[in-house]
Amino acid sequence: MTVLVLCEMDGPAGIADASLRALTLARGLGDVNAVVFADTAPDLAGYGVTRIYLVERSSVDGYAPLAWARVLAGLAEETGSTAVLAAGTDRGNEILAHLGAITGLPMAANCTAVTLSGDGTHKLIRHRWAGLLLEDAVLEAPIALLTVATDGIPAAYAPDPAAIAVHVHKPELVEGDLAVRAAESPVGTGGVTLATARVVVGGGRGVGGPDGFAPLEELARLLGGVVGVSRVVTSEGWRPHRQQVGQTGTKITPELYLACGISGAIQHIAGCAGAKHIIAINTDPGAPILSHADYAVIGDLHEIVPALITAIRSR
Ligand SMILES: Cc1cc2nc3c(=O)[nH]c(=O)nc-3n(C[C@H](O)[C@H](O)[C@H](O)COP(=O)(O)OP(=O)(O)OC[C@H]3O[C@@H](n4cnc5c(N)ncnc54)[C@H](O)[C@@H]3O)c2cc1C
Repeated sequence: MTVLVLCEMDGPAGIADASLRALTLARGLGDVNAVVFADTAPDLAGYGVTRIYLVERSSVDGYAPLAWARVLAGLAEETGSTAVLAAGTDRGNEILAHLGAITGLPMAANCTAVTLSGDGTHKLIRHRWAGLLLEDAVLEAPIALLTVATDGIPAAYAPDPAAIAVHVHKPELVEGDLAVRAAESPVGTGGVTLATARVVVGGGRGVGGPDGFAPLEELARLLGGVVGVSRVVTSEGWRPHRQQVGQTGTKITPELYLACGISGAIQHIAGCAGAKHIIAINTDPGAPILSHADYAVIGDLHEIVPALITAIRSR
């Protein structure tokens, strides 16, 4: 039995951690084939992948959700796959929703556990309400379309690494498949997205206004990460909603979340609890974020962030 896993790239760092988590979950469902939209095959040794389908930029240049879904639909048919998985990122959920529309199959988002039953159905547990509720469900479909919650399970190596065959795949697409296509990434992110970034520098009301984000952008750039913000910041119109972390924003799973001037409301924590390490910078020693942080600096972010930038630059 074959399962396909769409793997997202995370800038120059390689495969996004959220996709490694999806590969980890997929291993229990069959022989894992990865689908990667890139010019070179990433290093997936150790993640249980037996084959990589490489879709080069000459076939599909940039992020084109319908075209990517069309590629998955074709490969699922060609390989006789019983499941297609992706990370539960904005992109993963969007592409699998398109795949559901193309195939007429149901899709289950943000799964944390999936088992294949003897009758061919998939039993699953998935996050609802930003992970505050776990839902048990049974998916009845010839091909299970699943996304994996970005903070649901850790990425883990397979016990017996297999050799990986790489196939350059040339999909047949029609013009309409490419009608929606993101040709560029936001300036300065190097293709790294908030959902998959390894470092996120967060800014909240304590930043003080739209002009206060320049040092946070600079720090994020130096650390190879991106800026994320609280809802107050997006509600005030200081930054766009796509940068919001939280229950009604993006769920992040970085190695490091540096939360600057963010109080740590429960709706914000729902989006950043998957971070491996949290460092808070806050003037208030009683701020709730401190009970979630591994380290805290009690002080003014307008002094501490520039000092961090100077220290990193001097190294
Ligand atoms: C249904 C619902 C959904 C929501 N979804 C989200 C969501 O997805 N994401 C989200 O973030 N929020 C969400 N919220 C809002 C949430 O409840 C909080 O209001 C919000 O997260 C607070 O943002 P904040 O921490 O930036 O601001 P505040 O709570 O005002 O905190 C500002 C912090 O900055 C500190 N500070 C001030 N000046 C400085 C300085 N110079 N240096 C260092 N620290 C300083 C203060 O001590 C304080 O801790 C939601 C709310 C509801 C009701």
